[in-house]
Amino acid sequence: MLFDILTIFPNLLDSPLNEGILRRARQEGLIRIEITDIRDFACDKHAMTDDRPFGGGEGMVMKPEPLAAALKCVRQRQQAGRVILLSPQGRLYNQQVAGELAAETHLVLICGRYEGVDERFRAAYVDDEISIGDYILTGGELAAMVVVDSVSRLLPGVLGCSASAENDTFSRSLLKHPQYTRPRVFEGQDVPEELLSGDHAEIAVYRFISSVQRTIARRPDLISREHFSPEEKKLLKRAGLDGIIRKLQDGSDCRGFEKDGC
Ligand code: SAM
Repeated sequence: MLFDILTIFPNLLDSPLNEGILRRARQEGLIRIEITDIRDFACDKHAMTDDRPFGGGEGMVMKPEPLAAALKCVRQRQQAGRVILLSPQGRLYNQQVAGELAAETHLVLICGRYEGVDERFRAAYVDDEISIGDYILTGGELAAMVVVDSVSRLLPGVLGCSASAENDTFSRSLLKHPQYTRPRVFEGQDVPEELLSGDHAEIAVYRFISSVQRTIARRPDLISREHFSPEEKKLLKRAGLDGIIRKLQDGSDCRGFEKDGC
């Protein structure tokens, strides 16, 4: 996967791209990240990449010509990547969108600044707009990092153990179960007995039920989107969670609890 990132602050991206899993993935050639400084494509001698908005008002707007020139330069190197503008006005980013982007081979991420980019650049060149949440950042660089990081860890070979991405929170509509490591007792709190049993089936059941309990407590909205297998429905019924799940799944079809003999 090739990520091209267009920014006026390339130094901002240095550290996050050169540590941990991303660093290793780059070294192993699993991902490639190219950073283009939009200022290098400014048309005047002061390297201006922004100007005052037509019609007046606060702030500055990113000029279209340096953005277009930077993008054309990227395309000379590598054709036909999906061009994504990071923008609070874009579609909301989540794990499903990350999975969609992970199926691409080349993403071009454009980082806005100031009041954003000239609308004509957006209309002519942008394929997709992504917001990482309903809040305003000072620039698109952190949002681009979120995309690079979350997409990269879905690519084959990037995580040491592929199961860790498959079992993550949001890989289905459930939060991941609580995690414990050594010591067995921390400030008077024990690790749950089930996790010490060595019985893999019992551990899997315990984790599944605690994952559902945690989702009900923290993100009940997610439960309505989840589909449980007949086996899982039996486990949920045994744990006394079928009633609340029916309620959260609006009670209309009960997602087949009765049909599956639960
Ligand atoms: N004036 C713009 C508005 O109200 O929509 C906000 C501009 S913001 C200060 C500057 C840049 O930060 C944006 O062009 C975008 O690239 C980036 N940005 C800000 N919030 C973002 C978010 N939630 N998701 C993705 N990018 C964001």
